[in-house]
Amino acid sequence: MAHMEGIIVLLLGAVIGSFFNVCIYRLPRKESVAYKPSHCPGCGSKLGVADLVPVLSYLFLRGRCRHQGCEISPRYPLVEIITALLFLAAYINWGVSWHTASMWVFLAMLVLVSVIDIYHRIIPDEALLAATIIGLPLLFLASLDYLISGVIGFFAAGLLLLVIAAVSRGGMGGGDVKLSAVMGLFLGWQGVAVALFLSFLAGGVISILLLATKIKGRKDAVPFGPYLALGGIIAAFYAERIIAWYMGLSGL
Ligand SMILES: [Zn+2]
Repeated sequence: MAHMEGIIVLLLGAVIGSFFNVCIYRLPRKESVAYKPSHCPGCGSKLGVADLVPVLSYLFLRGRCRHQGCEISPRYPLVEIITALLFLAAYINWGVSWHTASMWVFLAMLVLVSVIDIYHRIIPDEALLAATIIGLPLLFLASLDYLISGVIGFFAAGLLLLVIAAVSRGGMGGGDVKLSAVMGLFLGWQGVAVALFLSFLAGGVISILLLATKIKGRKDAVPFGPYLALGGIIAAFYAERIIAWYMGLSGL
């Protein structure tokens, strides 16, 4: 891979991460993500072009707003860096292809919804809908098999989580059900099976650790979206290898 291409992909990811920071702030507040200039989350001062350069503006201003010196959360550059790195990883894995494009949409959506879920305890329909509308034609262009497997995955994962949500009574929300269905669309039915298995495994292990270390009490609700996202990211890159390994192990 040429260095120049890698840098362009990183920049694209960082710019999209920067747009997501606006979405993370505004979607849960039902504000428009497009028709309003960016402002500092602390003092409301309008941001200039230089304030909007991903990561670098944060480093240059040492995490403070240039108007009143409000502290800016490191969440902002982190979202940009994580999105950029995931974009690069997808590009290194699948090169110039429709599959890479569909995985960019998928991975970006996972970053967006998990951060919103962590801070606001909701998974906005707008993010899921946007990913589905952009993703469907990309999956079709990638291959008809992807699309068919994706549609099966969409309904299989959605139904499975719907049953789990009904049984768990409040442990899992409607947002988790919808997110799982959209994950099925992008990962296909085999991929989403791996993703869900990893999500529940990670959710279980981390919940036990949080309880054992008393970071969280038994009554604190922990959002499940980030675990789904974690499972989805690992499955996007490793599902085939995990399935092959499991088949070998079980002698199938
Ligand atoms: Zn400010």
